[in-house]
Amino acid sequence: MFINHEYIENLLEEAKGASKEEIQKVLNKAEKKKGLSHKDIAILLQIEDEEQLKEMYSIAGDIKKSIYGNRIVVFAPLYVSDYCVNNCVYCGYKKCNQFARKKLTREEIQQEVKILEKMGHKRLALEAGEDPVNCDIDYILDAIDAVYKTENENGVIRRINVNIAATTVEDYRKLKEAKIGTYILFQETYHKPTYEKMHPKCVKGDYEYHLTAFDRAMEGGIDDVGGGVLFGLSDPKFEVLALMLHNDHLEEKYGVGFHTISFPRLRKAEGMDLETFPHSVDDDMFKKIVAITRIAVPFTGIIMSTRESAEMRRELLKYGVSQISAGSCTGVGGYKEHEEGKAINQFDLADHRSPLEVLKQLIDDKYIPSYCTACYRKGRTGDRFMRLAKSGQIQNVCGPNAMMTLMEFILDYGDEELYKKGEALIREEAAKIEREDIRKLVLDNMEKLKKGERDLYL
Ligand code: SF4
Ligand code: SF4
Repeated sequence: MFINHEYIENLLEEAKGASKEEIQKVLNKAEKKKGLSHKDIAILLQIEDEEQLKEMYSIAGDIKKSIYGNRIVVFAPLYVSDYCVNNCVYCGYKKCNQFARKKLTREEIQQEVKILEKMGHKRLALEAGEDPVNCDIDYILDAIDAVYKTENENGVIRRINVNIAATTVEDYRKLKEAKIGTYILFQETYHKPTYEKMHPKCVKGDYEYHLTAFDRAMEGGIDDVGGGVLFGLSDPKFEVLALMLHNDHLEEKYGVGFHTISFPRLRKAEGMDLETFPHSVDDDMFKKIVAITRIAVPFTGIIMSTRESAEMRRELLKYGVSQISAGSCTGVGGYKEHEEGKAINQFDLADHRSPLEVLKQLIDDKYIPSYCTACYRKGRTGDRFMRLAKSGQIQNVCGPNAMMTLMEFILDYGDEELYKKGEALIREEAAKIEREDIRKLVLDNMEKLKKGERDLYL
């Protein structure tokens, strides 16, 4: 199996006594964007010195900026079913928790999507618990179809990423045909004994089957896959190295590693006690592992959800996060029930701001909020996408697309304040575009958008 526990544990053991000089050597290497070995990453995970930490954060921020510029992609989750046959110790949807389960009908899905569209969302992550009877693949395919077919004035969902349980090649092929964006699946923990403890007596308890899900997804034709770990279940240093090994495995076998990596941190959920998890990841460690991951896999998107507070998300944007969710509800039918306070969430959220508020903050911090979904619609997926990212060319499309989608948001969902500060930022950023033809195109498109055209992208 490609997650060799002994290999990771030895790397961590050997790196334990890493001197300041050894850490500095790795930082110097990271700064040159030469790529890091597993040993380098293990050494970097030992970093404690304040000055070196600052240096590492600044390298991580520079790497992100040099590849993706200052755009931040915004999305929202859509929970369609909380039926679940599993008993994941850390999750509020586990089978042994008693509450009235539900799955949304096609009409209810469309209702939720209309609310999301009214918030300005264009990109969703569809989420469901695992239940082969109540929530089979046909239900998921129908849900995807319902989402894509729901329009609300100018609102339309242009990309659906899907986060459903590990499944078969055949099912992945169906998801591909349904035009999903990224297939997302968190390994939760790569540490096998912990994995088995966390998933007692349930389908999800098969470590190998879960671990090889992306292999099957790739065989089914899905070439953008998004990994992740639920930080807090096991040693975070072990998890970071394991994520790298998984990424290497996918690169070696399929020519493309993780499209994204998510960084959920364990939070309180119904029927679990945080105190009983011995590996809680404090804020300092969390910042460190995000920055190290950014340095180790510069071309992979890093996703941060509203599990984290506004302050933490703001800080992590500086060290490598490139996608955030906004205005999220993590309950089935949650967007509709939000106002009524009835929704049962899968876990507690920390950032409750609306997308409008999130966007204003991003703009104040000089980021360009982006609702871009261009790559997958232009066929820039898998290794085609990675080639573009690795050549440094992705910025030529990311920035302009961010500007155009932000303008679209401002016109359709913004208030006066957003119009003012958003348009000013777009003009400032457009002026910095080096290629004259692209700069002109962006400025022309701004006018076209104002005249009513929509969905302009490169
Ligand atoms: Fe079910 Fe997923 Fe929750 Fe596990 S994490 S109990 S599989 S919804
Ligand atoms: Fe993402 Fe591609 Fe759009 Fe950049 S251009 S934001 S990589 S979809």
